[in-house]
Amino acid sequence: MDSETFRRHGHEVVDWVADYLRDAGNYPVLPKVQPGQIRAQLPPQPPAGGEPMEAILRDFRNVILPGITHWNHPRWFAYFPANNSGPSILAELISAGLGVNAMNWQTSPAATELEERVMDWVRQMIGLPEEFRGVIQDTASTATLCALICARERASGFSVNRRGLPAWPAHRPFRIYASQEAHSSVEKGVRLAGFGSENLVKIPVDGKFAMDPAPLAAWIAADRASGYTPCAIVATVGTTSSTAVDPVPELARIALREGLWLHVDAALAGSAAILPEKRWLLEGCDGADSLVFNPHKWLFTNFDCSAFFVRRPEALTAAMSILPEYLRTDQDRQVTNYRDWGIQLGRRFRALKLWFVIRSFGVEGLQTKLRDHIAWAAEFAGWVDESPAFERLAPVPVNTVCFRFNPGKVKAEPAPEEELDRRNKALMDAVNATGRIFLTHTRLGGRYCLRLCVGQTQTRRDDVALAWELLQQCAGKLT
Ligand SMILES: *Cc1c(COP(=O)(O)O)cnc(C)c1O
Repeated sequence: MDSETFRRHGHEVVDWVADYLRDAGNYPVLPKVQPGQIRAQLPPQPPAGGEPMEAILRDFRNVILPGITHWNHPRWFAYFPANNSGPSILAELISAGLGVNAMNWQTSPAATELEERVMDWVRQMIGLPEEFRGVIQDTASTATLCALICARERASGFSVNRRGLPAWPAHRPFRIYASQEAHSSVEKGVRLAGFGSENLVKIPVDGKFAMDPAPLAAWIAADRASGYTPCAIVATVGTTSSTAVDPVPELARIALREGLWLHVDAALAGSAAILPEKRWLLEGCDGADSLVFNPHKWLFTNFDCSAFFVRRPEALTAAMSILPEYLRTDQDRQVTNYRDWGIQLGRRFRALKLWFVIRSFGVEGLQTKLRDHIAWAAEFAGWVDESPAFERLAPVPVNTVCFRFNPGKVKAEPAPEEELDRRNKALMDAVNATGRIFLTHTRLGGRYCLRLCVGQTQTRRDDVALAWELLQQCAGKLT
């Protein structure tokens, strides 16, 4: 592609994205497609000769777009968001244009130094102490795996990296502790780091779905007594089901007393800590060894961008660093080489989009957005609480409301739980089938419950009100 053709299509594509961001609300949030329907429209063999951009872009519009789930729709209330914004998209375009691989300082000094600076801004924004240093990872899952590997190496005196895992069952297996509500990425990390799922102890939660520290302390003592080696605690700040917040100050005390690594998974809720009134979310995290949160969820920075902080970066680099001759450079002693801060060697230049976003919104602009989301979620929770036909199933510390349809609640004639589960599944399917909103479900204490998470860049109060209206309408038609 010559530069004039690139320029022409570049303008066309930027125009398309600008229209898309403006009009995303006109699409059905979930596409109405059957499994295999998109693949069937794509030729089984690659083209032998090059095709014109016109044809490629036409097929994008006609074949691909109808199969897109619109994460940046203003009425996306499902899962957690993956929101984006104009400045983030522009930075991604530049980053693609530069095609930088930010593995070493030398492979792009600006990429490394911008990442250092921007991650320190983020550290200040969420109120972590100065000793924490940050690195951008692709996802929270990867960051949690890195944290677990650090914990493993520290607990084994770096012997697993050298000699591999000891043969089972001759050794004293390591134990990792997380709550029953911890994200599946914790168990995945536990598997991949070689601990084994059976050595992940899932500590019970209290009535608010947060980890109960009393059984944790008891488990650790019992594990020591029966020949296990306690290794790490993973605390969750904002669980995926209900945004419950584990008692990190208490967990930090236990970790310190027991000599365990404390990793905090604040994937969604960490963003809210940029609000002074939500700083309490990260209370106790100054005693953590590592913390991750996702600007790609709730800080207007398009996927992927995960902020990983470690209190002692040497612990991370000691576990991750490996230096073949061809990667040595003259500056190694003076600079940060982020290849030693994670799993991959090659790294995308992600700091650029975070920098564009923070500068373009300003900290206050980001705060305003998050405050709105939190206020509208609280308002929605209020509507649920006042309704005779709905009930709330969990507290709302940030932007996610867990609730269900339960028309028997006022008459104190509750329907059997299976019946309520069935009706709430039917309600979710009905509201999602309208194409006007998208929300998802979870189970809390065994009950099927609907979740509404407010976190999209374009969402307004009216969108949340419409979700409530649709839920009531569709519930009215349920048998
Ligand atoms: C979303 C989420 C994750 C996983 O995030 P990825 O960046 O997709 O790996 C981990 N933990 C919690 C609590 C989450 O909500």
